[in-house]
Amino acid sequence: MIFNLILAGLIGLCIGSFLNVVIYRLPRGQSLATPPSRCRNCGYLLRWYDNVPVLSWLFLRARCRSCGTAVSWQYPVVELITAALFLLVVWLTPIGPLVFARLVLVSILIALFGIDLEHQILPNAITLPGIVIGVLFSLIAPPGIKDSLIGVALGAGILYAIAGGYYLWRREEGMGMGDVKMLAMIGAFLGWKAVLVTLVLSSFSGATIGLLLMAVQRGTMKFALPFGTFLAIGAMIAMMAGDPLIAWYAGFF
Ligand SMILES: [Zn+2]
Repeated sequence: MIFNLILAGLIGLCIGSFLNVVIYRLPRGQSLATPPSRCRNCGYLLRWYDNVPVLSWLFLRARCRSCGTAVSWQYPVVELITAALFLLVVWLTPIGPLVFARLVLVSILIALFGIDLEHQILPNAITLPGIVIGVLFSLIAPPGIKDSLIGVALGAGILYAIAGGYYLWRREEGMGMGDVKMLAMIGAFLGWKAVLVTLVLSSFSGATIGLLLMAVQRGTMKFALPFGTFLAIGAMIAMMAGDPLIAWYAGFF
């Protein structure tokens, strides 16, 4: 088990490094494969030893080796968060295809979180293949194909209805189609029950943080943070702790 956890952490660091590339390049329409990583200021081509997750950033004191320009703390943070979540998944999940499904979903959610936070978009290039991958995994792993397909329909249906209702009420868009596709994807991976848990958790945390920000800034009712970031957090919690939460919630009826 210890060996599996160490391996999960190390693989998580490397995947996190790749997710940094996805978060930076995908919304800018750049290729993920080429060119190799360079300093954004001086164009210095990163050698393998400049690209070791977390360690290179620490060793170079968050600066480019060539020109000394600051390198964002976002890089090691994404790598460490990915490693921590990979550890958690491997620790909580029995060995089998479900582990891989969850690791893929975690990676996708981290990328969507980062991109939505910075650009307020949830690219189709991630969400649409994500739906297909989630459904395919459900052929060999929980929640099973039926729950997965209902999850896609319910995830898309609920948010589509909310988005439509909000538009009729306020005559402006409160929620994008990106959120609709993202929750459909979460449903594909986790099944329809987790869609409900995700929605409750993300709405609750979104409202809490929104109210806090309003109190601090005396701002408007507008979402201060994009909803996709809350969906990502809600889905992670639903995945790790969904079954006990559903049981607890069902206890009220
Ligand atoms: Zn440089």
